Amino acid sequence: MSRFWSPLVHSLTPYVAGEQPTISGLVKLNTNENPYGTSPRALAAISEATDDRLRLYPDPTARRLREVIAVRHDLDPDQVFAGNGSDEVLAHTFHALLNHEEPLLFPDITYSFYSTYCHLYGINFRRIPLDQNMQVRIEDYLQPSGAIILPNPNAPTGIARPLSDIETLIRQHPDQVVAIDEAYVDFSGESAIPLVKEHPNLLVIQTFSKSRGLAGLRVGFAVGQRPLIEALERVKDSFNSYPLDRLALAGAVASWEDEDWFQHHRDLIVASRERLAIALRALGFGVLQSSANFLFARHPSRSGADLAAQLRDKAILVRHFPAERIEDYLRISIGTDVECDKLLAAFKQILT
Ligand SMILES: *Cc1c(COP(=O)(O)O)cnc(C)c1O
Repeated sequence: MSRFWSPLVHSLTPYVAGEQPTISGLVKLNTNENPYGTSPRALAAISEATDDRLRLYPDPTARRLREVIAVRHDLDPDQVFAGNGSDEVLAHTFHALLNHEEPLLFPDITYSFYSTYCHLYGINFRRIPLDQNMQVRIEDYLQPSGAIILPNPNAPTGIARPLSDIETLIRQHPDQVVAIDEAYVDFSGESAIPLVKEHPNLLVIQTFSKSRGLAGLRVGFAVGQRPLIEALERVKDSFNSYPLDRLALAGAVASWEDEDWFQHHRDLIVASRERLAIALRALGFGVLQSSANFLFARHPSRSGADLAAQLRDKAILVRHFPAERIEDYLRISIGTDVECDKLLAAFKQILT
């Protein structure tokens, strides 16, 4: 606490990011990074962009990136907004579109950045409990609200709702923005992007961090009809005109265009996920049905905090959230098969 702080700063509850230690030999399964990294074409494009042009400001509108994203989804580039990681796109979304008199609704168990943004921007919000199976129930959102935000698949459960449920939600709330955070959609979920054309209240947010292996480059985007995107642009241009630097723009475009690399490595991760889920169940874990690049699992006779600490002693990092309803779960990012096998071997030792 400091007397120099603006009053708001005293009441913030900052997001706590997963650790990024630099210990060598660590099996790092705690922040849902992609174990295969990014497309070599993206790396080449970043090298190629690394020259004297760095003295110039980058394109403030990220035009080329918005174009390639728009073409893939048969949209207009003006229906795409790009930002410095989807966290920044989300922050602008909360600021520009989700702050109304009635509360913003989101699940009680979800991405913990949402309540952080609400505190930052003074947004009235209400958490809607997941059901006993840790599922989002669309019917529970039928109540007065200013807007709705949901990750699909949800985090940290990994559970996806079918697109028909998302469409029902959008139809039931024609006067509210429904924002769908699709950070993990590429790992077997169904994207709501095709619904954007028909629904003026839908905003879909995606990231290059997880399925495209570019968490370090910080690139995310949103798609929606023009009035929603214009609101994001107004906030962005009141905050930072150049959120994406030259290297990020070059790398993101090349990564987006390397569809073969993307699909091949995404499929490897999905296959490893299914294999790891089976092996964890054989060790007695309850594992939620994941459509993401992580598993959410608990053991019936061990506390989540103890298991996470014992894995840490063996140089394996997973994420543990000390929050109500989920304190005995571990969120385990899908690594390579070698990393998954190290995790399984460690669990076998710990559990015997
Ligand atoms: C990882 C994640 C993000 C943020 O990703 P960026 O790296 O900022 O693009 C957004 N939403 C959810 C649910 C996530 O798990």
